[in-house]
This record gives sequence, C-alpha cells and structure tokens, in this order.
Amino acid sequence: MRTETDRCPGVLAVHEAADGGLARVRVPGGALTLAQLDVLRQAADDLGDGRLELTSRGNVQVRGLTADGPQELSQRLYDAGLLPSITHERVRNILASPLSGLDGQSRYDVLPVAAAVDHALCARRKLADLPGRFLFALDDGRGDLTGARADVLVRALNDCQAVLTLGTKGVRVSWADAADVMIAAAKAFLKVRAGQEWRIAEVEGGESRILERLGLQATVELPTGTTTIDAGWHGESALVVTVPLGSLTQEQAAVVGEVADEVRITPWRSLVLRVRADPSDRLDGVGLVTTADSPWNGVTACAGRPGCAKALADVRADARQVTPRLPRHGRPVHWSGCDRRCGKPAGEFVDVLAVGNGYAIDGERGGLG
Ligand code: SF4
Repeated sequence: MRTETDRCPGVLAVHEAADGGLARVRVPGGALTLAQLDVLRQAADDLGDGRLELTSRGNVQVRGLTADGPQELSQRLYDAGLLPSITHERVRNILASPLSGLDGQSRYDVLPVAAAVDHALCARRKLADLPGRFLFALDDGRGDLTGARADVLVRALNDCQAVLTLGTKGVRVSWADAADVMIAAAKAFLKVRAGQEWRIAEVEGGESRILERLGLQATVELPTGTTTIDAGWHGESALVVTVPLGSLTQEQAAVVGEVADEVRITPWRSLVLRVRADPSDRLDGVGLVTTADSPWNGVTACAGRPGCAKALADVRADARQVTPRLPRHGRPVHWSGCDRRCGKPAGEFVDVLAVGNGYAIDGERGGLG
C-alpha cells in the first residue's frame, strides 16, 4: 500500500517546478471552444512562459507561473468555463476519441457521453477523493483509446451498445446506461481500495471486486483492433495537426484559433481541427505539421532543463535541433532528461536518454553527444 500524497498538479494545486509554477488544466474529451483556447493562450502569455503544453491525457499545462499567477489563472479559467468545480478539478480526467463524430468512422459519437460523465463526476461530492491519475476513456469504436491504459474504458460496438472494461474482460452496456455505470465503477473503486492506490490495476483483485459491487459479470471478449491517428486529413473537414513536442507557441495558438471552427486536443499531444477551407499553408508556416511523413510525428520529450531540476540536459532544445534532420522513425521517439522518462509513450519506443555529457539511444551511449 502506498502512503504518498497525491501530487498530481491542477490549477489550484500548482506544482512548483524549477522554472516556476506548473498548472494543469483538465479538458474533458479534449474539447475546447475557440474562446477557451484564446483564454489559455492569453493566460500563458500574461502569467506563464507563453507556451501551452499538451499532455498525454488531452489536457493543457501552463508553466513558468509567477507567485501570484495561479490565482489570476484560476479566475480566468473559471470565467471561461474551464474550472467548473473547485473540488473536482483534478479528477476530471476523461479521454474521448478525438475524431468522434467528425470523420464518418465513429460507431457512436462519444463526445456527449464524455460531457455527461464530467457532469456526473463533478456532481458527486465523494468522487472528489479520486486520485488525480484515475482515468476514464470513451472509444468511439475505432480502437484509438483501447491502449490508453484507462481505469474505466467504454468502447462503442454500435449506436445502441458498448463494452465497458476495467481491465481484462468486458461487460455489455447500453449507451443510455454507460455514463452511470462509469461513475458507479469510480465510486466502487473508492470503496475497494485499501489505502492510496492510484489506479484500479493497483488494487488487489480490483477489477473483479468492483464488478461484483456493481452486480456485473465480465464475460465479453474485448473488441480487437486498435488504430493510431496520423497527422493529415480525416474526412473532408477534420485535420489532425502535430504540434512539435506538444508545445504550442503563442503564434501557433493564434493561427489555430483563426483557421478552425472547433479544436480538440488528442492524447498524442496533437490537435484535431474542424475546418471549412484548407489551412495547411498557414499552419505549416508557423511550424505546425499537417502531413503524416514529417519527422516530428511520434516525437515526444519530457520537460528537461530548465523546467525540471533533475534534468541532465535541455532535451527539448536538443530534440528541436536534431529532429528536422532525421526521417520519420518507425517507432515513437522519446527524449528524457533523466532515467525517470516522464511522459514516455506506451509500448515500444526509441529511448533517447540524457546521460550527462550526451545521450544514450536505446541504451547505447554517445549517439547524439
Ligand atoms: S524524465 Fe527526469 S528530467 Fe525529465 S521531467 Fe521527468 S524527472 Fe525531469
């Protein structure tokens, strides 16, 4: 049993990083209005280091906050509808397939279900006790979130039914019940955990004990087939845009706000834009990536120097220098400032690790030194 405090940052519980305060803003379903994007952009400029960091849970981080930054930031986010609950802000971790309802590939549009889960979550006082790492995910049937390592995953089968899973096997649920069952599973997790386990998988027998409490039996094999979402066009109006290293500059955020009708943040630190005309030239012009063959696709990095005191290198600056010179790699590439490898992708990846006077690549020292 763990006894650590839950240190997941939020807007009110700001993490003190080496470069100032770091606030994480939850964005359920990754869906931002253009007005909200602009509030975030302006806040990063006025109160932080100017950049919006996209996270692997489709959230946004503002870093480099000054001492009085968090208070002003929380007021602006509250006014913009990005902080609807003071008590539940860190538990609103809800992923939804980012192309849901946009490209004709969804078995069911899960965005409204994500909003319903968020609403129900914030309405239940006890659920403020969920750990900040507890994750809900709604897959629209295409399989893009099946590997998201969610605690509670619902994947669409068709427009009537879905499969809910807490780990290995699934239970059929109707869409009418899906949000309620997801919330009930979270409540049951709080009952069965012994102490401070963060995730269902950390609780001994967690999956079966929670299902038993819900009166459910998992007998359904999980649907197979997973997919990844590449940069480029998906259907006629959805454009997936890679944001190099998931770090959106002022200029990039402003252009996105001008060309898109709707913006969604993906768990791959990219953006889905709903657009009417082709904005590729404008996006490419500010360093965003609109094609699948770019070397920037699949490249991630931890904070590194100067944001993290543990870092042995400014991994982001080094990645920015090296990546454009390389072809796109077959595997994801992750740059880390130390062996904690924060933010590393799930599954196989090229491990670029700072080792003091250079980098080790997949354990072989010296490649980029
Ligand atoms: S991997 Fe190491 S250097 Fe990078 S953010 Fe995590 S602790 Fe800091």
